[in-house]
Amino acid sequence: MLLGCIADDFTGATELANNLTRAGMRTVQTVGVPRIPLGDDVDAVVVALKSRTIPAAEAIAQSLAALKWLQLSDFKQLYFKYCSTFDSTPAGNIGPVTEALMRALGCEFTIACPAFPEAGRTIYKGNLFVGDVPLNESGMRDHPLTPMRDANLVRVLQAQMKGKVGLIDYSIVARGADAIRTRIGELRRDSVKAAVVDIISNSDLMSLGLAVKDLPLVTAGSGVAIGLPQNFALAGGSAAALPRCTGQRAIVSGSCSQATNAQVAHFIKQGGAARALDALNLAGGGAEIERALAWAKPLLGAGKGPVLIYSTAAPAAVQAIQARLGVADAGALIEKALAKIARELVDAGVDQLLVAGGETSGAVVQALGIEALRIGPQIDPGVPWTMRIGGKPLALVLKSGNFGSEDFFTKAFRVLQNNV
Ligand code: ADP
Repeated sequence: MLLGCIADDFTGATELANNLTRAGMRTVQTVGVPRIPLGDDVDAVVVALKSRTIPAAEAIAQSLAALKWLQLSDFKQLYFKYCSTFDSTPAGNIGPVTEALMRALGCEFTIACPAFPEAGRTIYKGNLFVGDVPLNESGMRDHPLTPMRDANLVRVLQAQMKGKVGLIDYSIVARGADAIRTRIGELRRDSVKAAVVDIISNSDLMSLGLAVKDLPLVTAGSGVAIGLPQNFALAGGSAAALPRCTGQRAIVSGSCSQATNAQVAHFIKQGGAARALDALNLAGGGAEIERALAWAKPLLGAGKGPVLIYSTAAPAAVQAIQARLGVADAGALIEKALAKIARELVDAGVDQLLVAGGETSGAVVQALGIEALRIGPQIDPGVPWTMRIGGKPLALVLKSGNFGSEDFFTKAFRVLQNNV
């Protein structure tokens, strides 16, 4: 293993793993610290935690446990991955986890850089922009858990760190890797422990990647990953190749986002085999799961996949269900039902499964007992095919919320077919 990574949430971990794979690293994402062996043909491992908004002491403990496990392999660099909108509160967890990892690694200096220009996240004079507006004017201003009211990341991070926070500003970054390296030397002499880095383009990320080659720890969003693989001698060839799957294909969708609603509608319009779950019937104990499976299995047996089972609904219908069942109870009930359906379908021979919905994906991953995933080809920005490690071969897409184009469901299976 060349690069060890710790991510503070699951979908963020996938985004990082996807960027590393596209840049040529054979990458595995794990669900927490796994108990199974990952194999030898791995360049990067991303341990996905759920530590973004838990108490700082717990986030530190989980991150250090992940580091300890990663250290069983002799990796060259550690990457602490957080959100590209630097989601955190004045108590953390980005600053406290960064300092704990630095202590554990004996690391004197690191960078902090959530920039991801392809996704509209740029940094200038230490200020993070989301699209065309500063962070504090974006939707993040009113985030329920981590409202971001200051775009100046030097200030935001300094509030969370004991050590001094500095800036590598754009006048330096624009001059390339050597200038960044020189600046890092100056900041270190000034006792700066972490520096925010201005980034406005992918070519800036390539310069930064070269400049941080010798840092034991890099802290960043997923964008910085684009510039790191050039520092390592890689095997070459496609890092995204997955073994071929020849079994049945299925989709379960519990996302009610606008994008997923459009994807479900498009799939049905194209003549795809689809069945809606009736949430009220489910709540009333009406054998809804069994009926859905009894509908799907003969179709799969006749080679008529992919089959789609969905609870995806328009906002008015979702609100009506929530009014009847309660928001949390409705969510948990449907997640559990879709997870059970996914598991039964896999048991029945499905080896290519697409899951729509972040929370829904979490429930499915848990129901299938998945500990690690090999990252395969990208379908749409940020969403790759993956392959379960351990157990029978299972190709899996975990698509959260608003990701993917309208024809995502059909496109996904085409991408898998062509990736051999
Ligand atoms: P997304 O990634 O789009 O946010 P999630 O799976 O994370 O999707 O969240 C969707 C939530 O909505 C889940 O808790 C799911 O169980 C719930 N849900 C799905 N369908 C319905 C429905 N028809 N009515 C009410 N809640 C629903």
